[in-house]
Amino acid sequence: MSTITTRAEALALDRTDQLGTLREAFDLPTGIYLDGNSLGPLPRVTREALQHAVEIEWGNDLIRSWTKHGWIELPQQIGAQIARLIGAKPHEVVAADSTSVNLFKLGAAALRLQTGRRVILSEPGNFPTDLYILQGLTGFTPGAELRTVEPAKLEAAMDDQLALLVLTHTHYKSGQVHDMARLTAAAQKRGALVLWDLSHSAGVLDVDLNGCNADFAIGCGYKYLNGGPGAPAFLFVAERHQAKIASPLSGWMGHASPFDFTDDYAAAPGIDRFLCGTPQVLGMRALHAGLSVLEQVKPRQLQDKARRLGQIFLERVLEAGDGSLRLLSPRDPAQRGGHVSFAHEDGYAIVQALIARDIVGDFRAPDALRFGFAPTFLRYVDAWDAAEALLEIVATKSYDDARFRTRAAVT
Ligand SMILES: *Cc1c(COP(=O)(O)O)cnc(C)c1O
Repeated sequence: MSTITTRAEALALDRTDQLGTLREAFDLPTGIYLDGNSLGPLPRVTREALQHAVEIEWGNDLIRSWTKHGWIELPQQIGAQIARLIGAKPHEVVAADSTSVNLFKLGAAALRLQTGRRVILSEPGNFPTDLYILQGLTGFTPGAELRTVEPAKLEAAMDDQLALLVLTHTHYKSGQVHDMARLTAAAQKRGALVLWDLSHSAGVLDVDLNGCNADFAIGCGYKYLNGGPGAPAFLFVAERHQAKIASPLSGWMGHASPFDFTDDYAAAPGIDRFLCGTPQVLGMRALHAGLSVLEQVKPRQLQDKARRLGQIFLERVLEAGDGSLRLLSPRDPAQRGGHVSFAHEDGYAIVQALIARDIVGDFRAPDALRFGFAPTFLRYVDAWDAAEALLEIVATKSYDDARFRTRAAVT
């Protein structure tokens, strides 16, 4: 991937950017927002959709809205919107619960499909909730065990005890992307099932779950999908598993006919059995609206632009820096998701100094500065200017100030 060496070249790229007009779909109160990978900005249509949901649907039509405004179908409708972004069929994805809860549901369901095998394999340093949920799951599944091994040793660790491989496609800190096709095939060859966490991939990478023959996937609604704070998450179950798999959280919304009010549980056909309780309608409304922004866009376009933005930033920092910022992400864009991270012992203060200049990235302990390059609303010149600001703050040590060193509760 060719990169650029002047600000003028960045401006020229913006002039021919096919995704350039998407920026207008968002409220962008911040100078340069490099946290769209953690909490996507507010799409303008979402403000209208929520106002309608509150004033007309809830405020006026009340309980009739379940059918009149299609509340009851939101999980499947949103599932179909997400499916096209991740290489799935519309009926293989639903929106429900949180990513953490969906991991529990699918992890437990996968273990139940496996007879005799009880090992779950993941990697150390995976996103904390993924490891915590898997620890909780093995804690009350007799004989179950969680093993974590470094990425390079994953294939060697796959044996005939392996029940389930659980990996996050794009690493939340480094941005390193796993080879989904290769690892899925390797685990399945051993008789294992594979579950991918797409939290940092959906809406930014050209994910192809079915092309990779994935079994299960989960992901987040509030990152690149712009669903708003605490948005519902999604889950994917490959069609071939749907008829024989059971959710451990057998709530009434996953029942074949919830409004028959019978005493005995009978799973709904298809993916609907992974719904649990009543859908979070306001959150679903916001996610549905946020996803409409991506309707006309191909995942490939998002991926190409995000990687190019990241490359401009990264190459500039490496090229013009003093070497004190150590690249934590792959330099090769093909191995990277939408964000770029550097390590620096004063990382926290540097991120605070950037925020004081209206350039918002984030810090991940112990020393990572993380910058998300959401392709929907960022301009190439933003990537260039962010690099320049970072370089200046580091070169002048302007971050070395008490007001930048005090840690907040959420970093
Ligand atoms: C953001 C993220 C989550 C979030 O899970 P919640 O249940 O929404 O808190 C989970 N896994 C990964 C890999 C993430 O990046």
